[in-house]
Amino acid sequence: MNIIKQKINIRFRIILVTLLFTLFTFAIAQPGKLNVGFDIDDTVLFSEPMFIHYITEYGRPLDYSWLNSNDKDFSIPITPTIDLVHYFRSNGHNVFFITARPGENGHILGEFLTGVLGYKVEKDVNLFFMPKEKIGEHRFTTKHRKMNELELDLYYGDSDTDIVGALKAGVHPVRVVRSNLSLENYSANYFGNTHKGDVKEAPFDGTDLEIFYSRSVGVFGESIYPIIWDGPQND
Ligand SMILES: [Mg+2]
Repeated sequence: MNIIKQKINIRFRIILVTLLFTLFTFAIAQPGKLNVGFDIDDTVLFSEPMFIHYITEYGRPLDYSWLNSNDKDFSIPITPTIDLVHYFRSNGHNVFFITARPGENGHILGEFLTGVLGYKVEKDVNLFFMPKEKIGEHRFTTKHRKMNELELDLYYGDSDTDIVGALKAGVHPVRVVRSNLSLENYSANYFGNTHKGDVKEAPFDGTDLEIFYSRSVGVFGESIYPIIWDGPQND
């Protein structure tokens, strides 16, 4: 009798331990639930007009306390990315925003995104400011630290630094193709400034860039998100 009792006891313990382990695993891993990150500028917002306005009016350096406060007057939501954010959320996934903008007045950018997206976006809750850090003459992305902390599965961004940051964090990177209007004013990506033409500083031209964007896998092994957005003139 004692042996039977003992056996039942052991079986009960095994079932209990298995159940607890399963619950623990569910609580930690949240199977099927993705943590998805998005960059802001040229990914969620077409903010180029704001940056150009600031530089024209006030020059450099950029004042991010001003910039983070003025999206409402200049920045335009990139509708395919906004739809993608809603798609992830409506399917139960977590969405976070990580920008390289410094965080002064970041709560105002959060309020603007709240209005755009229709749900609460809050600094240091689901919106994070991770400015680049300077080592010597170079400025390096720090986004990978937040990606690690948030245990992201995917990260969407338009810049090389977004892709490199994601790779460093072991997160799958997805390249959002930047608007042509932004390309004119951007200089630093893998292709350099393709609008400069055939000069030493720009070894690639616009055709190379088109080929790159038309493929599904980019130069860093990132996926290319086939964003179709005609830009602000048609919005
Ligand atoms: Mg960007």
